[in-house]
Amino acid sequence: MRSIEHIYVDGKFVMPDGNERLELFNPATEQKIGDVRLGNADDVNAAVAAAKQAFPAMASSSKAERIDMLRSLRDAISAQPDPLAQAMTEEYGAPAYFTAFSVQNTASIFDVMAETVAKYDFDRVAGKSMVNMLPRGVMAAITPWNSNFGFIATKLAHAIGSGSTLVIKPAEQSACQTDILVRRLHQAGLPAGILNVVNGTGPVVGAALTQHPDVATISFTGSTQAAKIIQRAAIDGMKRVILELGGKAPTIILPDADLDKAIPVALMSGFANSGQACVAGTRILAPRSRLSEISERLRTQTEKLKVGDGRDPEVQIGPLASLAQWERIQAYIRLGIEEGATLLTGGAGRPAGFEKGWFARPTIFADVRNDMRIAREEIFGPVLCLLAYDDEDEAVEIANDSDYGLQAYVLGSDLRHAERIAARLLVGRVVINSAPHDPRAPFGGFKQSGIGREIGTFGLDGMLEPRAVLTP
Ligand code: ADP
Ligand code: MG
Repeated sequence: MRSIEHIYVDGKFVMPDGNERLELFNPATEQKIGDVRLGNADDVNAAVAAAKQAFPAMASSSKAERIDMLRSLRDAISAQPDPLAQAMTEEYGAPAYFTAFSVQNTASIFDVMAETVAKYDFDRVAGKSMVNMLPRGVMAAITPWNSNFGFIATKLAHAIGSGSTLVIKPAEQSACQTDILVRRLHQAGLPAGILNVVNGTGPVVGAALTQHPDVATISFTGSTQAAKIIQRAAIDGMKRVILELGGKAPTIILPDADLDKAIPVALMSGFANSGQACVAGTRILAPRSRLSEISERLRTQTEKLKVGDGRDPEVQIGPLASLAQWERIQAYIRLGIEEGATLLTGGAGRPAGFEKGWFARPTIFADVRNDMRIAREEIFGPVLCLLAYDDEDEAVEIANDSDYGLQAYVLGSDLRHAERIAARLLVGRVVINSAPHDPRAPFGGFKQSGIGREIGTFGLDGMLEPRAVLTP
């Protein structure tokens, strides 16, 4: 059992003023593994004050100083990956392939930002004027539970790269992971006040942060629903917002696709991280001419996926993160049946052989129409929709007919042709075939998938304000 007592303010681990506690669980066993003491609005005030005090020095830091800080953070993560991965498995249930990727990716986020800072033009010329790209002040970040390390690292990297200081409120149900990560980041020896971390709930600590007059930028990753509350709170202070939100990514299987390759990619893009991913490919679009063949392969290969405790190295799909998540997924599976979709595989309840743990059955609905709620709403679990299209124009039309526009997948044998389809999609990212994760590609979405972009020069642009100086 772990009791997380401290928050991180002004370079020190301190007892929060708030004294409510939240229980923490292992989602694979449903056992309580610890609890966390939650902060309150006074803790937010203290953290923002520390960040405000540290801001002038951070804002005037050189490129070399920022790069040094980023490299130290990277080293602090890379030094000892195993305890981070273990915390992720214990508190989140993630399988080994995902924890290994997450920890390595967390380190690489700092590296990519160091590269970005090295080549970024902070001082430019426009017309006859000098233009300086300046940080605005304190950045408040709010992050979700589905990739706790990566999102905290992304926010911190953007704060440092831009010369801002940060107060972060991570997801409260990920407190063990946050604690081990922040203790590691502390080893990097950043000057006090650049990074501050306040544990707490969205409506208490999150709300206090978004309303705080000394916060200049809010960077949020999470649900579109919470983002709307946050953006409303940001209006009075005209705070800048960067929002990375939900998705309902289409996976277009083109008529010429090699199904031996395409089906595993389609399933991975949909089911990775138990489908608890804003980028999950949850609408599989198949040519009607090959529908029965594709359905059959999706069904048989889904039924071979190994669901279980992330501690088992062969497991491909872990549990859902919480009981609330499990119940949400069950409700969507019932909804799909009520809406008249056909269960191709999976369904409600736990997979056979599981009596405990927040495990869901990897589920695919066939005969889905794009106006059904299961095709329009973000489910955030291992529940995929199969939709048929007659020709590629219709595939593009269905793909773009969504309130979201975060990511899309295009699978086909002719790369040039797949690129032409990609060029018609209104999403922040299109992944063609088995393209690997690109840590340098901008990330963010169209429509209700968000505002702004993170990563690389696009990420820094969003954290900076140009000041032009006109001379006679
Ligand atoms: P979920 O409901 O699956 O936890 P959310 O989008 O609500 O997803 O959570 C993402 C992050 O946003 C979490 O850190 C959560 O505490 C925070 N959050 C939720 N509601 C609010 C809110 N009203 N104001 C600020 N932060 C919030
Ligand atoms: Mg919520």
